[in-house]
Amino acid sequence: MLHGKHALVTGAARGIGAAIARTLAAEGATLTLLGRNEASLQALARELPGQHGIVVADIADPGQVDAAFARARDERGTVHILVNNAGQAESAPLVRTSLELWQRMLAVNLTGTFLCSQAVLPHMLAAGGGRIVNIASTAAQKGYAYVSAYVAAKHGVLGLTRSLALEVARKGITVNAVCPGYTDTDILRDSVANVVARTGRSEREALAEFAAGNPQARIVQPQEVADAVRWLCGDGAASVTGQAISVSGGEVM
Ligand code: NAP
Repeated sequence: MLHGKHALVTGAARGIGAAIARTLAAEGATLTLLGRNEASLQALARELPGQHGIVVADIADPGQVDAAFARARDERGTVHILVNNAGQAESAPLVRTSLELWQRMLAVNLTGTFLCSQAVLPHMLAAGGGRIVNIASTAAQKGYAYVSAYVAAKHGVLGLTRSLALEVARKGITVNAVCPGYTDTDILRDSVANVVARTGRSEREALAEFAAGNPQARIVQPQEVADAVRWLCGDGAASVTGQAISVSGGEVM
């Protein structure tokens, strides 16, 4: 149970982030929901049991991250649990990957995780404990064609996870990555639409192709990712740090 814990979830309004927010709230945590869209964050905050807050920020912008975390701390105290979930996935063959696309993928997926972790760390150290959970991807554990920038950024998230886990191992703070395979959210829906537009395949065929990469031959559900996060946030996972937990039907082993 997470009563008395303040959990901040980035990218909380939709998809995996919303499932994590619902799950941590059901465990009794007080939440700060971070995202770029105020209306959708408010709608989720109203739906959750308990009293929760929102902060609007682009995680790739250092000034916005600083202001958002200062506000979260002022309103609900030290963040005990940080879930770095916000992310974006754009695809392109490497020869057509512009420097802008490359930098966008690194900025949101990797630098955003760095900035948010740095914003909570001094306060977790002062409090003598905390949990950081980074929603990476199987793209942190293996390569995929046509998404080099995203895959490079997610591999970076895993490197950051492992290094920071060692740095704070004696401070009561654990740092782990959860690595979903293809999961039923807008990111996957956009990728399916992209394949349909590029290849002329039907939506069903495109989705089946994504599911075929999973040995269980199915798409992961956001709740399955949230359940792994819930476990990592609990007292029972105190010895688990620096890990990459693959939630992918065995796609990575
Ligand atoms: P999603 O439904 O598209 O949600 C992404 C969330 O991230 C949204 O809430 C979005 O908020 C937020 N976000 C994006 N850029 C942001 C920024 N610059 N600043 C603040 N918030 C930002 O995608 P999802 O599938 O739930 O993805 C969640 C995480 O899981 C990502 O890190 C993704 O890489 C990872 N993942 C997804 C899959 C998959 O197949 N779905 C697989 C492996 C890993 P706004 O409302 O502001 O747009």
